[in-house]
Amino acid sequence: EHTGWAGLVVRDLQVRFGAFTAVDGVDLDFTSGAVHFLIGPNGAGKTTCVDAITGLARATGSVRLNGREVLGVPVRRLARQGIGRTFQTATLFENLTVLQNLDIAAGMHRSRWALLGARRRIDPAIDEALETTGLGHVINRPAGTLSHGQKQWAEIAMLLVQRAEVLLLDEPVAGMSHDEREATGRLLHRLKDGRTVIVVEHDMDFMRQFASGVTVLHQGKVLSAGSVEEVTADPRVQEVYLGS
Ligand code: ADP
Repeated sequence: EHTGWAGLVVRDLQVRFGAFTAVDGVDLDFTSGAVHFLIGPNGAGKTTCVDAITGLARATGSVRLNGREVLGVPVRRLARQGIGRTFQTATLFENLTVLQNLDIAAGMHRSRWALLGARRRIDPAIDEALETTGLGHVINRPAGTLSHGQKQWAEIAMLLVQRAEVLLLDEPVAGMSHDEREATGRLLHRLKDGRTVIVVEHDMDFMRQFASGVTVLHQGKVLSAGSVEEVTADPRVQEVYLGS
């Protein structure tokens, strides 16, 4: 279906708000099978980049998933094409159980299962998502009763049920306990098999521990990109972080 290279490639991405250019010619190479961190000081353009990739901000340039252009594809169709995103604020239906939430997330694939004559009550991707995220023991609990960490993992499970191939995660460990952070780090590395994981994060310790690769944005441009070692040793990065 596609040649060797899999993942998300961004070229010359630009987002303007009036006269202000929030994202200014950004190139990103997010290969499949890795956990990429997108970092940078407040106002660097991280959220706007993710908004542009996920169709929430008007942008110019190119965003290709496995070689296929997805910039300009409407938000709802992007999910079908495999691009999924979490937000810092949970989007779960708090009064519904975890299983019911996942069943709703699976809804967009259900018609296909029906056509195939599947008799299962739930989509098999739900079992897989529950296993990956370790939420199998809370499927019958109302989502509102989950811990903060479990809610974040349930959001990720929803993306898995929707067959997301690219997962963009907005500060997944914000507000988490030490143990929840460790569990999330391990989850990121389970997620990366066959997928592209992109984490927008402020937490430098978490980034150092779990990133396969790092891109640093500053004033709407890529300041530095490479391995954790390369990026943290980059004097330009040190200057931005010490100076801010
Ligand atoms: P980050 O996520 O790295 O903190 P953002 O992408 O949120 O940065 O913001 C980048 C810049 O764009 C900031 O200067 C911010 O004020 C500006 N910005 C973001 N959204 C808008 C908007 N809707 N209108 C005008 N300026 C915006």
